[in-house]
Amino acid sequence: MNTATNNKYPKVTLKPSKDRSVRNFHPWLFSGAIKNIKGTVEEGSIVEIYSNEDEYLATGHYHEGSIMVRIFSFEQQEIDYGFWKAKLAGAYERRRILGYIDNPETNAYRLVHAEGDDLPGLIIDIYYTTAIIQTHTPGMFAIRHHLAKAIQEIYGDSIKAIFDKSIHKNAVASETASHYLYGDKGDDLVLENGLKFKIDWEEGQKTGFFIDQRDNRELVGKLSKGKTVLNAFSYSGGFSVYALKGGAKLVHSVDSSNKAIELADINIQNNFDQANHQSFPEDVFDFLKKMDNVYDLIILDPPAFAKHLSSVDKATIGYRNLNFEALRRIKSGGILFTFSCSQVIDKTLFRKILFLAAAQAKRKVRVLYQLSQPSDHPINLFHPEGEYLKGLVVLVED
Ligand code: SAH
Repeated sequence: MNTATNNKYPKVTLKPSKDRSVRNFHPWLFSGAIKNIKGTVEEGSIVEIYSNEDEYLATGHYHEGSIMVRIFSFEQQEIDYGFWKAKLAGAYERRRILGYIDNPETNAYRLVHAEGDDLPGLIIDIYYTTAIIQTHTPGMFAIRHHLAKAIQEIYGDSIKAIFDKSIHKNAVASETASHYLYGDKGDDLVLENGLKFKIDWEEGQKTGFFIDQRDNRELVGKLSKGKTVLNAFSYSGGFSVYALKGGAKLVHSVDSSNKAIELADINIQNNFDQANHQSFPEDVFDFLKKMDNVYDLIILDPPAFAKHLSSVDKATIGYRNLNFEALRRIKSGGILFTFSCSQVIDKTLFRKILFLAAAQAKRKVRVLYQLSQPSDHPINLFHPEGEYLKGLVVLVED
């Protein structure tokens, strides 16, 4: 770090001894740490953070809210097109090291995972020849054209379209309406471990697919042979396709969204001429109540029940009820895959919730695997909040 002054960006000065988290490379600066701001700032402005002793610490995007600055650099430098391109090139290099680039078996992966790639507020997913940019902050939204240009320069001809699916508070709706920044809708069939999936990035959930469950789907495949499987909260049927591929006797997919069920049916057809699969456009809680002692393997992958700390208690009850219903109904010797993607429910709390559900259901439960997100969703060590996906695989007896 250097102490050179630079008047180009507004200057955020911290209160005395409020610099510890920034010095520990945490990418969020909370409003309570700020002493004053010099210069004019608006939503999404680039600002520099200084200690109370006037030492440069970091650079980030300014936003109104409790997290006031999202930091993307701890080195004082010009934030221009070259800066953003180097960031994306770094993310690309990490994916190359991990085997995601030009992989003949898997061509859907996350190129940029927000804080995990030192780019808070930004997600970029690659679906074969299409890149999806999803900005979550006005600061990242403002540079979307830079990002699109950098993607084209890094990938060359192998990326044929770039779709902007930005969502953020305070945005003008017409400004953020999803659209193509480059090219047009092309091939929407991707490969994941050799299996085919149709991705609806225009209308589907998230950027179109739950890429983050890739490794966990593989594990379901390995444990499904000869089993009766329930994929609850199935979305486009990812776990169902792997279970069938792994030799499941029968698979049921349940999701309350008709669109999700339609996609799941298409994905089953894309992979199998014939499959013992049935889909149900229903509420999982209602469905479970009708299905006692039917399943050898159940997957529970609900949407985030808690988006904020304020709803942790309610979410805890929701997860507990859901897991209780599944645990009391699964066959003896059954395997339960249970997930939470709520950032505010940590590993320890999630395990405790399962403990309470199992005690209530009076079942014997052994933990087989503790799951998380795959390597294209890296967790920045300085930002433990980035570990959002938690999964437990348990064996249920008696
Ligand atoms: N397991 C999926 C992702 C699940 S996302 C995958 O690997 O792709 C959560 C899904 O739960 C969404 O598709 C949503 O439509 C569905 N959902 C939300 N609430 C539900 C409910 N009460 N009953 C059934 N489905 C629900």
